[in-house]
Amino acid sequence: MAEDYPKTLMELEQRFATNQACRAYLFTLRWPEGFACPKCGGRVAWPMSRGLWLCGRCRYQASVTAGTIFQDSHLPLTLWFRAMWQVTSQKNGASALGLQRVLGLGSYQTAWALLHKLRRAMVRPGRDRLTGVVEVDETYWGGEEEGVRGRQTQDKALIAVAAQEDGGGIGRIRLRRIPDLTRATLHGFIAQAVEPGSTVRTDGLQAYRGLVGYGHERRVQGPDPEAAGKLLPRVHRVVSLLKRWLLGTHQGAIGQEYLDYYLDEFTFRFNRRQSASRGKLFYRLAQQAVQVAPVPFDSLVHPQPVGAG
Ligand SMILES: [Zn+2]
Repeated sequence: MAEDYPKTLMELEQRFATNQACRAYLFTLRWPEGFACPKCGGRVAWPMSRGLWLCGRCRYQASVTAGTIFQDSHLPLTLWFRAMWQVTSQKNGASALGLQRVLGLGSYQTAWALLHKLRRAMVRPGRDRLTGVVEVDETYWGGEEEGVRGRQTQDKALIAVAAQEDGGGIGRIRLRRIPDLTRATLHGFIAQAVEPGSTVRTDGLQAYRGLVGYGHERRVQGPDPEAAGKLLPRVHRVVSLLKRWLLGTHQGAIGQEYLDYYLDEFTFRFNRRQSASRGKLFYRLAQQAVQVAPVPFDSLVHPQPVGAG
């Protein structure tokens, strides 16, 4: 299917002026080959009122938003579309407070939940793993050395980082919060992030030993701590960009329980940083938003205070 998306804010405003127009767009993203009944797989359906489709085979009333992040939302799709545009059109993303202001939302909580649902849609279910040569390392977030505001509520979080080699540069990345540096955890991260048969490059940490199904290049650090960045330059670059983003856009005020959402957003942006068109990011986000399971508000735990989004 040709990738079809608005290229400017003006285009977005004109094209998605009604909920019906938004729904029609989501329909083509969710069912690019034409309608497929979620219950019986039937391919024939009749449109009903309020955006429902009646399956011609089993009479099931299918909704294009059922099972997606838009399910059960009391917000109109027109507003969701503008939120997706805000999130994807700005280089560093949007904060909950910024979103609340721009969209004129009544409460900060609503903006915060909206943003976190979108973040969850940023990581595609069943996305493909990194291949080729992949650097893998770990880093800490939070704690003393970051100068994090509100650090009294935070302990250090461990983040595993994988960065694909692309010539002298960086290809795609994967980030995940991990509980510890045990062999099981690190090998598990690699299995999720890197395609078997690829070459994994790590430092000398013992826990990386015994990797099965991968080529393994260990780069052991000498006595000079400055040399660490040269051993695995790509992951070190990713880590420094990640920390700058967390500290800059979000003032570092991110509770550990929400860190995963931010890692997902950073990964989404980073892996599409070469994309010439911001509209294309909008397209990807909308596409992924109709693929994921719904996130009830309760599962987002409790919204943070103002300034934390
Ligand atoms: Zn059916």
